[in-house]
Amino acid sequence: TDTVHVVGGGLAGSEAAWQLAKAGVPVVLHEMRPERPTEAHKTDALAELVCSNSFRSDDWETNAVGLLHEEMRRAGSLIMACADAHKLPAGGALAVDREDFADAVTKALTEHPLIAIDRSEVAGLPPADWDSVIVATGPLTSPALADAVKTLTGEAELAFFDAIAPIVHFESIDMDVCWRQSRYDKVGPGGSGADYINCPLDKAQYDTFIDGLLTAEKTTFKDFEKTPYFEGCLPIEVMAERGRDTLRYGPMKPVGLTNAHRPDEKPHAIVQLRQDNALGTLWNMVGFQTKLKHGEQARVFRMIPGLGQAEFARLGGLHRNTFLDSPKLLDNSLRLKAEPRLRFAGQVTGVEGYVESAAIGLIAGRFAGAERLGAPPAPPPPTTALGALLAHITGGHLSADGEGGARSFQPMNVNYGLFPPVTVARESWGKGAKNSKAFARKRAMSARALADLDDWLEGLSAVAAE
Ligand code: FAD
Repeated sequence: TDTVHVVGGGLAGSEAAWQLAKAGVPVVLHEMRPERPTEAHKTDALAELVCSNSFRSDDWETNAVGLLHEEMRRAGSLIMACADAHKLPAGGALAVDREDFADAVTKALTEHPLIAIDRSEVAGLPPADWDSVIVATGPLTSPALADAVKTLTGEAELAFFDAIAPIVHFESIDMDVCWRQSRYDKVGPGGSGADYINCPLDKAQYDTFIDGLLTAEKTTFKDFEKTPYFEGCLPIEVMAERGRDTLRYGPMKPVGLTNAHRPDEKPHAIVQLRQDNALGTLWNMVGFQTKLKHGEQARVFRMIPGLGQAEFARLGGLHRNTFLDSPKLLDNSLRLKAEPRLRFAGQVTGVEGYVESAAIGLIAGRFAGAERLGAPPAPPPPTTALGALLAHITGGHLSADGEGGARSFQPMNVNYGLFPPVTVARESWGKGAKNSKAFARKRAMSARALADLDDWLEGLSAVAAE
């Protein structure tokens, strides 16, 4: 048959099914609710929002998620059309009436003549005669399917919890305090012996930092998340609770490193940052996964010398979250290398958030549609928010060199650090509250993204018209 099967009717699966049907490809959308519930969903609607009702900032000029909204609108997204139709007043954010939003998505999919909805669980590997499948089963993928995927990919390549360390924008790191060096100047594959950025702490600074960690406010786990920590990725504040020096003997050990600015001073402890994307714009704090509240993380981590002005592309967290080591497992069109009839989409690919999940659904739906219609896959340009997200999960990411402990590919929201950099002239900084180099860069990246997106969409419609 020429039917494409989409497993999971959440944010990503709903968008993928819509994109396929819009391209003229028949779809069966398999959703296990209400037959089988998850720990977080409460209704039987497709595209249910499990927690907040916000799609975050709608400002496409200077906010990466706002830009992603706009790109998805231009690409004919069902999720964005329904969000816009049911938005609520929320300042610069796009908040929606969750029930009306999910009902609108459910109705549009149910009424589409090319979409059939099957309300049952795919409880294992999809049947062998489904030759094109999009798996979009989300952070709470049912155990039967997750186990089958784990068998295909190997134990270590499918995670059931994320262990997210904060990521810092390179520009905001004070390199007059920090220096680049790998421990013992070790040169790994493709490395230079100076792969890490190091932040030195003396004894007083370390003590203040530990006190900050111990007294900061923490978020709590949801009931279904209460699972013993794996020792490989303990939250940093839990390590600090085990003893004042635990961190100094763990991720903050000051060995094998010499302060390039003050070679005579031996640091009491060191925080290391490891390059997180090929562009070198994002650096993650090695071993700093944490359950501290976001505001507290920014406050406490800015106590670290060199990070006083740090801007965070992502803050830390630990959640129940099923996701693949996508850079390793998926090809450029989101197919599982080990079994290319299976494509993945949504949070299970290692993006984070409603909008990002839907965006990967949009891309996966378009890839699967092109494949069915015999057209070459046409990925979104890397300068767009869609393309930058795709690069995050299919290869722009650098893998760890083994020093870091927890595996390094972790879910991420869209942010400007994922885009190829731009340089901006002083004259373009602008006026008013958003007059700065940082805002000028964001505006330039957004303008470039939308221009490139329009070219891409135009090219695709020209091909379709042939
Ligand atoms: P989902 O929307 O979860 O969709 C997956 C669907 O697949 C579900 O409907 C599920 O029932 C179905 N399914 C699973 N297994 C099977 C199977 N074997 N067969 C058939 N169907 C199956 N993001 C935000 O932006 N804001 C938030 O406030 C937010 N809060 C979150 C709170 C929690 C508790 C969790 C777990 C996640 C949260 N997220 C949030 C993260 C994420 O953006 C959402 O989970 C988002 O819904 C992911 O989209 P998705 O399409 O990948 O998965």
